[in-house]
Amino acid sequence: MQLGKYSFGVGDRFGRQGNAQLKAMLQARTAGLDITPVWNKSHREHSIIGTQPADVRREADATVASAGWDQPYFVDADHIGMGNVDQFLDASDFFALDVADFIGRRVEAGQISAFAAKHRALVGMLTIDGIDESFEVSESDLQSIASKYLGAVAQAGRIYRHVESNKGAGSFVTEVSMDETDTPQTPIEMLIILAAIADEGIPVQTIAPKFSGRFNKGVDYVGDVQAFAREFEQDVAVLAFAVKEYGLPADLKLSVHSGSDKFSIYGPIRRALTKFDAGVHVKTAGTTWLEEVIGLASAGGEGLVIAKEVYAQALARMDELCGPYATVIDIDPGALPSADEVNTWDGETFASTLRHDQACALYNPSFRQLLHVGYKVAAEMGPRFLDALGTYEDTVAGHVTANIYDRHVRPLFQEGPESPID
Ligand SMILES: [Zn+2]
Repeated sequence: MQLGKYSFGVGDRFGRQGNAQLKAMLQARTAGLDITPVWNKSHREHSIIGTQPADVRREADATVASAGWDQPYFVDADHIGMGNVDQFLDASDFFALDVADFIGRRVEAGQISAFAAKHRALVGMLTIDGIDESFEVSESDLQSIASKYLGAVAQAGRIYRHVESNKGAGSFVTEVSMDETDTPQTPIEMLIILAAIADEGIPVQTIAPKFSGRFNKGVDYVGDVQAFAREFEQDVAVLAFAVKEYGLPADLKLSVHSGSDKFSIYGPIRRALTKFDAGVHVKTAGTTWLEEVIGLASAGGEGLVIAKEVYAQALARMDELCGPYATVIDIDPGALPSADEVNTWDGETFASTLRHDQACALYNPSFRQLLHVGYKVAAEMGPRFLDALGTYEDTVAGHVTANIYDRHVRPLFQEGPESPID
């Protein structure tokens, strides 16, 4: 199962925009870029919306069939663990094994010393192709990093083997994700994690580390872009080193769980990929859902009425809706307009306030993040919301495609001054 050099994970909360999403990948192909689409949906999203993994599979299969897409595509069981993997086994062929909660779990002392003995070559001054500085790793660094991560890697091994025993080796893509944690992994930690993953026999194809900086949902990166650029480059170099050193799959690449719209780091990512001739998987969150709301608002009529109702209810239920996303959103309540004020807006004002265009004076990141987590309100509207998506399909689909292609694919994968955002 080859994911390809470039792959792009799109969420589609309501399962209606597969065609519009795939159209962006078709536009990329026309421009000479092969990007593998991956439809990802986490257990959290399924439970909030009331969908099943089989729904995503059905959507993906129907979409590629109707578009005549003859390239690979995948359905990602995003952020799964032992407790919920079973419900994804039939529908998915990409498994993001989330073991962040197992970082720092106690492992037996014997395991740590055995690991340290096996990987004694890491101790001393370590140089890695493509990284200017060299790293000094002491015996105690090796032991303490191993003791922090071996439990998480062992858990990834358990989930991997469970999936493998059900689906068969080589019939799915394996990702190991450690991004939903507070502390970023250093490049040396990444290297030691990869050594442990190889020991565990996991044929990992993508790994999602926690990068430094904040990756809030649906808004731009918050942090030191230069530091991120350096860290990302070092991680890419570490992966290439680990592939050679530990015999990991040759197509191993980083997975960036972007939370969507990290425009200010797309340039550094693209330059690092070019420098190392490396691939990447970029996972975006639910901005397709936000494009649906933008499309409905721009269309006016009942579409705008629905968009305003979703906002009013999201505002009234802010604590409940933000709860599951508390660590990945940053809303300034003082910046949120009242429902009464929003009710006086026309469609263009609503859309411009929501749309992620930092050059636009109306753009409001708090408004955007609240609507980002407000999809539960639309889910509860049921057929009324879904029917509106049907009624205004043309407007909505145009926004979905343009968002993916112009704001994400071009700046991430197409080099040159024509990239709109850098
Ligand atoms: Zn993630």
